[in-house]
Amino acid sequence: MDTILQVRELTRRFGGLTAVNNVSFDVREREILSVIGPNGAGKSTLFKLIASFLKPTSGEVLYRGERISGLAPHIAARKGVVRTFQETTIFRNMTVRENVIVAHHLRSRASLLGFFVGTGTAREDERAFGASADEILDFLNLTELANEKARNLPHGHLRALGIAIGLATDPAVLLLDEPFAGMNHDETHKAVAMVRRLRERGLTVLLVEHDMPAVMKISDRIVVINFGQKIAEGTPVDIQNNDRVIEAYLGA
Ligand code: ADP
Ligand code: MG
Repeated sequence: MDTILQVRELTRRFGGLTAVNNVSFDVREREILSVIGPNGAGKSTLFKLIASFLKPTSGEVLYRGERISGLAPHIAARKGVVRTFQETTIFRNMTVRENVIVAHHLRSRASLLGFFVGTGTAREDERAFGASADEILDFLNLTELANEKARNLPHGHLRALGIAIGLATDPAVLLLDEPFAGMNHDETHKAVAMVRRLRERGLTVLLVEHDMPAVMKISDRIVVINFGQKIAEGTPVDIQNNDRVIEAYLGA
């Protein structure tokens, strides 16, 4: 399988704190790779580094062989590496559907201004993720809420809208930071199925998630970090039987 991302000796310090410490791993095309580790281990910082939201203190990230670390995040996103997270920009006074269409326009060079002043249209001439805005909404079970203002959405659906916005920018690699947080069992089950379908559509998915049963079920491979360092990498079975991982989680 081809390598889509190479994380090479990434380090990020905040003052005296080394949040990510010399982490290296490869991500294969179309795999679901999870990053797990205790709270404060450096998972979110690692994702921000990969998606170019933060500059590394040292090390680099290569996407299809090209260095993307140090690029502005929207440039990395335009190349295809997109991170969605809880604080993803959602226009709360626009409808669910309008939010997804605007994200389309952000990716394409269609005039966003035109869309706002009404000279442009909300046409989906730009195909995103091989899918129109309506397909993306359908994919995330948001069709019935398409004409609701985002500000009226319940929490779980807001999360889904964040992912829809990410998809509308047509990523090749999607980084999801705790997408199942706050979901009940049934919602998590649906979200896991959704992530699997993303991969079937050709996406590579990087996931940070605390729900261990979900992580073990969904992941092809897992990278474990503790105190900023990679302590293990392997299949879910490897990871569950790894002494260093068990120790890190039990705090022994
Ligand atoms: P995780 O996502 O695994 O819980 P984070 O990557 O959020 O961990 O944080 C790793 C460490 O880096 C923590 O000690 C956190 O306090 C620190 N940290 C994260 N972001 C910043 C920042 N912008 N400034 C200073 N310290 C930070
Ligand atoms: Mg985090």
